[in-house]
Amino acid sequence: MDGLPPGAGGCHGGRETMQAAARAAGKSEAMERLARDYPRGPHDQPQSMCPAFGSLRVGLRMKRTATILSGSACCVYGLTFTSHFYGARRSVGYVPFNSETLVTGKLFEDIREAVHAMAKPEEYDAIVVTNLCVPTASGVPLDLLPREINGVRIIGIDVPGFGVPTHAEAKDVLSGAMLRYARAEAEAGPVARPARHVEGARSVTLLGELFPADPPGIGALLAPLGLSLGATVPTREWRDLYAALDCVAAAALHPFYTASVRELQAAGRPVVGSGPVGVEGTAAWLEGIGRAAGVEAARVDAAKARTLPAIQGALGAKPVKARITVSGYEGSELLVARLLIEAGAEVPYVGTACPRTEWSEPDRQWLEAHGCHVQYRASLEQDIAAMREAKPDLALGTTPLVQKAKEEGTPALYFTNMVSARPLFGPAGAASMAGIVAAQTSGRERFSRMVSFFEGVGTPDGAGYGFRDKPADPPGFRERIRKQRLARAKAEEAVGT
Ligand code: SF4
Repeated sequence: MDGLPPGAGGCHGGRETMQAAARAAGKSEAMERLARDYPRGPHDQPQSMCPAFGSLRVGLRMKRTATILSGSACCVYGLTFTSHFYGARRSVGYVPFNSETLVTGKLFEDIREAVHAMAKPEEYDAIVVTNLCVPTASGVPLDLLPREINGVRIIGIDVPGFGVPTHAEAKDVLSGAMLRYARAEAEAGPVARPARHVEGARSVTLLGELFPADPPGIGALLAPLGLSLGATVPTREWRDLYAALDCVAAAALHPFYTASVRELQAAGRPVVGSGPVGVEGTAAWLEGIGRAAGVEAARVDAAKARTLPAIQGALGAKPVKARITVSGYEGSELLVARLLIEAGAEVPYVGTACPRTEWSEPDRQWLEAHGCHVQYRASLEQDIAAMREAKPDLALGTTPLVQKAKEEGTPALYFTNMVSARPLFGPAGAASMAGIVAAQTSGRERFSRMVSFFEGVGTPDGAGYGFRDKPADPPGFRERIRKQRLARAKAEEAVGT
């Protein structure tokens, strides 16, 4: 592996080592672009799944799109396992390598051969080739692949864990690359007509993987403005990319689509941040969209008058009386926190694994004005510390946070499976949120009973040996480990000084 010392590799190989190797192997420009688009935060390694899962899933969900991964077999195993666990029902292509094919450049030749073999226009519009950590660090030059073969577009992307902090942002890496390609096609001449194209419609493109009922709900909010629902990025087929570019404005509902925003702006489309959550959020969002799309103020006022009472009614019907902490890596955490506060909840903390961008700025300001601490690029440790300090009635969070909360007797809910699997925007979002909070917070007393019932069971040292003798440690084991720890701490301290 060119420039890569033996033993260095992947998520556990050290970010600096991998980045230095990638730069030495000719990927400086790609690494700088990733660093600009996805700035790092307090933790320097993904604390969730492999980031490449985000872009892999975007490709797998698109019609007539083939996916090829280039990376270590263990990474590809994990990624294909996860994608099938989430119901991909699509093959993932893989070009394997060994040290020799990596060093000699044969891997690139193998990828090119695979792409040529797969480029059948009767089956595919596009083939996505993804460099994972090791091929990126070794400089496998996907940009030298043909741009298209037999009319099938070839998209090569680098999605290394040491350059893309979250799987959420990896969705943007692929979406941005596809929008860039589609924009160049549209600028060069006529392109295929998008499936739901309506002549003369003034549409709004949505950015973010949304709950399926949300886009039609947003369409209903847009209709009184004389605007229609456009494509949602990530798109489900290639032609939708042209529809996404052909909008009067775009809504960055998930605020981390930096590369996609760049392409929309290059196409001359204004981009609006935040989203239509709660009464105040929806009012501000309608005004922002109206301004961006040149809709007259009276029409915006009429749209607000038509929608806001319904949201107010839904929020007032089931007020939320609870203290809630929110954390996640989806990108919608700030919007969820806004909605909860408008519904009556006290939300002292919201942590998101995503970076701070101008598209979530209105939400950050609103939340902080309502006594909520906003932590961008939040680490698991920060989320857990906030939960312990706030002692919430309900913690919304990622799997490890929910696990920790339950151990401590705090009712908790998975953000991805439960909160993101419900409508969030407009009246439907307002109605759904109160329901889940009420159902979960009522379980607090049951949780405390469970904690006292299971007291001491399953805690690390004695776990699993309730009815037999616990095996004895090998002689001197603990002392040896203690000394090793001390020596390591001293060595680290010496490096730091
Ligand atoms: S590709 Fe993903 S799983 Fe493999 S080393 Fe990189 S971050 Fe880890």
